[in-house]
Parts: sequence; C-alpha cells; structure tokens
Amino acid sequence: MPTAVSCPRSWLAEAVARIEADFNRSADTHLIRLDLPRAPGVTLYLKDESSHPTGSLKHRLARSLFLYALCNGWIGPQTTIIEASSGSTAVSEAYFARLLGLRFIAVMPRSTSPQKIAAIAFHGGESHLVENPKAVYEEARRLARETGGHYIDQFTYAERATDWRGNNNIAQSIFAQMALEPDPVPAWIVCGAGTGGTSATLGRYIRYQRHATRLCVADPEGSVFHRHYADRSVRELDGCASCIEGIGRPRVEPSFIPEVVDRMVAVPDAASIAAMQVISELLGKGVGGSTGTNIVACAHIIAEMVARGEKGSIVTLLCDSGERYRSTYYDPAWLAARGLDVAPWREKLTRLFAEGTPLA
Ligand SMILES: *Cc1c(COP(=O)(O)O)cnc(C)c1O
Repeated sequence: MPTAVSCPRSWLAEAVARIEADFNRSADTHLIRLDLPRAPGVTLYLKDESSHPTGSLKHRLARSLFLYALCNGWIGPQTTIIEASSGSTAVSEAYFARLLGLRFIAVMPRSTSPQKIAAIAFHGGESHLVENPKAVYEEARRLARETGGHYIDQFTYAERATDWRGNNNIAQSIFAQMALEPDPVPAWIVCGAGTGGTSATLGRYIRYQRHATRLCVADPEGSVFHRHYADRSVRELDGCASCIEGIGRPRVEPSFIPEVVDRMVAVPDAASIAAMQVISELLGKGVGGSTGTNIVACAHIIAEMVARGEKGSIVTLLCDSGERYRSTYYDPAWLAARGLDVAPWREKLTRLFAEGTPLA
C-alpha cells in the first residue's frame, strides 16, 4: 500500500479542480468508420485515441490514476511522481504532473523510442532508463522510497482507477458514438493489453450494460497474456520477445482480468507492423504498432464473419499515432535489422482490407 502524505485539503481541492477543468476543456476522441468493400454488412470502426492532448489512450489512464491517487491521499504538494512505463503512460503522466506542478520521473527500458523520451521531456518529465525491462517495477519502487515520492504503479491500479460503470470511460463513449450506426451494438470490440486496464473497463462495461458484444484481446506472440489466458498457471516468461510498444508483457500484470475477455488472438510482430502499414495507408495517417496488432485480430474476425455470412460491426482502438515510431516501425532498415519480413503479411492484409478477400 502506498504511504499517505500530509496534504492540505485546499491544495487537494485545487489539484482535483485543475484536472477536472482540463477535462472540461477537452473533446471526445473520434470514432472513424471504415467500410470493407468486399465484406458487405461488416463495418470496422476505429476509436481514435491518438487525438488526446498527449497522443494516446494513456491520457485517459493518466487522468484516472492521478485522481485516484489524489483522492486516496497519496499525493501532496511536495510529492515526486514516479512511474514504471514502456513510454506512453509516462508521456501522459508527465502532462498531468506538470498541470499540478509536481516533479515526474519515468522509469523505462532502454529500448524505449527516443520520440517518447523527447515527449516526456517536452511535458517537463525526467526519464530514468534501465537495462532489464523487468527491473522497471523494483527500480520505480526504489526511487519512490529514496525521494519520498509516490510510485503511481499503473500495472496494479489501471483496472481500479477507471470508473468501469460509466463516467465517460472509453466503453461508454464507444457505445454512445455507435448509437446511430446500422449495427449500434458491436459484435466484437478488439483491444490490446499492456496494463490490461482498457480490456478490464471494456469487459466490465459490456457485462454491466448486458450487451451481446464480445471482447477480443489481441496480444503479441511473445507476450505472456495469451499464454496465461489458455493456462492460468503460466504467469511469467523470461522476457517478452515482442517489439510492439505499449502491449504484451513478460509477467501477467495485476490489472489484466482474463475473466472478462471472451477471446484472445496471438499476433506475430511482423503481422502487426504490416497491418499498421496497411491501415495507415487506408486512413491516410500513421498509426502505432499496437493498432496494427488490433487490426490483425480484426482481420481474423472479419474473415470468420464473411465465411459464416454474418453481418455486424467491429470496434477497435487506434491507440496512438505513427509519429512516435518514425525511427522504428516506419524505418525499413530498422525492420530488416530485426529480421521482420512484413511483405507476406502486407499482401494478405491488403487483400482483406483493400479488396475484401478473407485471409487464407
Ligand atoms: C498501453 C497501451 C495499450 C494497451 O492499453 P492497456 O489499457 O494498458 O492495456 C495499447 N497501445 C498503446 C500504444 C499503449 O500505450
């Protein structure tokens, strides 16, 4: 349990008010509709989370985590905020820390993209890089102890900091934006899992609202989550062999709630990156790797629906934009150096999305 800090109620009230006012100035993210020319009756929608002020779905999480920590009495006017992150959460948390005038330190693997480190610095945050990706949790805890700071711990608190019954969470927003579509209740919602917080919110909300929608989590092949889903005794891998930032973990995070997930699809990294390219071209804007992972799972579901002659809608997330990955996923030399051959996947996915032929 984090330690309580001494915090004047007047400061706390001002801190909460600043976050609420920031939210009040914000608009909801768009739901982009993508008709599939040769899968008539199946429509794909992408919830564009890249349009948040800090560029990813982690903007929602960071806001919720700060409010949760503030209202629990864990953050005061002198508290240094520490987080273990693969990058995107830290960018969003740096934004909220600055809003409150607090020092922020992100503990991240050295492999984190330079663009993310620059984005954290842009928002006034500091980066503390470690060699072993699995060491981030303990290093964050140590820094919090030594600075008398607060380790926000997204991996533990993501699932409980978000109001899963509503309060404009991502699930409620999706269902509201689908209201006037031909198939307003999606057959499937597809997302990835990093903390697992988004899938927990979606799965709980679907159940609470008694929708028939099923939840699919798209997971990198090298991640532990889909292995854990198939066999609950598997909780840890030696390392996560995936290079898709934001999703896929070497340990089952406490915020991942498999009970509310209806299906998991394991996706090779090369397929994720191919799908990222194909969907970027279709949308006319760059998207990140985890969006590609989602799209591969959507491709499987679309192909199945076509084969069964089913109609309906599928909603997935555009988690962040391609800007942060110019020097990685969008760089052919970077892909070649890692032996990622995207061409065969590109061909299959182009057939499905641009021509409508189901995956072989
Ligand atoms: C965190 C993250 C996800 C997964 O969201 P969780 O709610 O943490 O499971 C997907 N894509 C990107 C880019 C992310 O940063």
